[in-house]
Amino acid sequence: MRSQYCGELDSSFIDQTVTISGWVHRRRDHGGVIFLDVRDREGIMQVVFDPDAEASFAIADRVRSEYVVEITGLVRARPEGTVNANMRTGEVEMLGREIAVLNKAATPPFPLDEYSGVGEDVRLKYRYMDLRRPEMQQKLILRSRITSSIRRALEDQGFIDIETPILNRATPEGARDYLVPSRTHPGSFFSLPQSPQLFKQLLMVSGFDRYYQIAKCFRDEDLRADRQPEFTQIDIETSFMDEEGIMAITETMIRKLFKEVLDVEFDTFPRMPFSEAMERFGSDKPDLRIPLELVTVSDLMETVEFKVFSGPAKDSQGRVAALKVPGGNSLTRKQIDDYTKYVGVYGAKGLAYIKVNDMSDLEEGLQSPIVKFLPVDVRKALLERLSAENGDLIFFGADKAKIVNDALGALRCKIGADMNLYTKEWAPMWVVDFPMFEENGDVRLTALHHPFTMPSCSIEELQANPAAALSKAYDMVLNGVELGGGSIRIHQEEMQNAVFDVLKIDKEEQEEKFGFLLSALRYGAPPHGGLAFGLDRLVMLMTGSESIREVIAFPKTQTAACVMTHAPGQVEPEQLKELHIRVRKPQSES
Ligand code: ASP
Repeated sequence: MRSQYCGELDSSFIDQTVTISGWVHRRRDHGGVIFLDVRDREGIMQVVFDPDAEASFAIADRVRSEYVVEITGLVRARPEGTVNANMRTGEVEMLGREIAVLNKAATPPFPLDEYSGVGEDVRLKYRYMDLRRPEMQQKLILRSRITSSIRRALEDQGFIDIETPILNRATPEGARDYLVPSRTHPGSFFSLPQSPQLFKQLLMVSGFDRYYQIAKCFRDEDLRADRQPEFTQIDIETSFMDEEGIMAITETMIRKLFKEVLDVEFDTFPRMPFSEAMERFGSDKPDLRIPLELVTVSDLMETVEFKVFSGPAKDSQGRVAALKVPGGNSLTRKQIDDYTKYVGVYGAKGLAYIKVNDMSDLEEGLQSPIVKFLPVDVRKALLERLSAENGDLIFFGADKAKIVNDALGALRCKIGADMNLYTKEWAPMWVVDFPMFEENGDVRLTALHHPFTMPSCSIEELQANPAAALSKAYDMVLNGVELGGGSIRIHQEEMQNAVFDVLKIDKEEQEEKFGFLLSALRYGAPPHGGLAFGLDRLVMLMTGSESIREVIAFPKTQTAACVMTHAPGQVEPEQLKELHIRVRKPQSES
């Protein structure tokens, strides 16, 4: 069997006889000489077969793409002019002496060396072939290096890896649960964990002090965005540590990870209160690589006759904000129309703009369908507030604050990408001081994180003005992606009750849903808190991938199915009977 991986062979092996095992990546016949590129997980090796070695030449002549071969041969320098500087093995080649075909392969469903035209559905159907591609091998190998770096960092800090159950009782954590019917308890269901949240808190009550787990989590959501029904969290919980301690430990872990795996060094992560992030970037996960910012101009617009602006400007829930794009007046009508459509997805009804052609002429120098509605003094104040210059373009959002933030926040990122405005490669940060609750247009407030998050205020302050309460929650954000989030938890019953009161979760519902946690809080729960990172997103960013599906070995499709195994699938009527389940046919079939 092999003496070296293909990818290990470099000029230090010259004149040595080695044996490699792998797949035929490519076969070329150069007029009497056969070249095989042999691939394994570490790389690709070029092997040359001369016709004088008759037996092996004949075999090499018959192999096809993806045959599994074992080759013994002599490593030698490549002839001058044929060195490939892009490959680790590019200075050498092997002169093949013996070749054995360990297995044949049917014609691959797509060529592995030029796969770009292949649709994702085909790649997922033949994922075992797709994963043979060097690019995918690199991504999964990097994923493994990432998890081992994280394990090492946490274990060096005294964290203990503890598994928590997969079959659970349904608890509300925001998303829809995946359910598993119980055979032994007719009519009852387990739910798969959306996160190990309650169990990790119980482990703190049990005194483990520092816990971590690389945990599978399940959420049955509509997969519009780049989500997966099952995903992996790096889940962390600690006792006797405040926000500062938890943020310091996890920031150090991420900093070490980037240094070890990518040789990238980060400075201390900047921190930004949630309110500032929304005000300046319209997002609780701002992409700080992009230098554009939202600026509130509601006060300037209160008295203008243009109702589209003055309405939201006067509404306490409204916001009028401007986004200045330096040099943006070169954008064409068509580009502006496309951006208008783009913000429509976020609920914006339009996208007003002003092109600043000549600052010195507030009558003729501003080009815009709306500028005629703005008095000259408003125009002047606006340009001053935005520090506008000739050549700039100013976009406006005017609506409920949420719509303006969502729309201009997304537009900011889109323009940043389209115009390649990035000022740096990596922008890690913390968002802190989240509100404890959010209003959903309903009379009821809901918890922004989860109901076990500790408010930053006293019980009395919470009761007096719950909508204004902040929480001891923190999110780590990298390049506009939420990498992880967590909080200090409530460890005393009185505070937990006060929060449940605000959320209008009555005693019965509390007992029914989290009775065990509330009971545990009565038996000496230590102050504790933690955080969870989304491993898939972290790996996606670190490998420069477009989607988390690119860094998961066997992902599901956008409709939460596996095109390779055909999961989810039908089961035998007998199995359903044992589970006390009768299936109601979807209406279209009945
Ligand atoms: N359980 C939370 C989540 O999954 C993370 C945490 O608060 O630790 O988002």
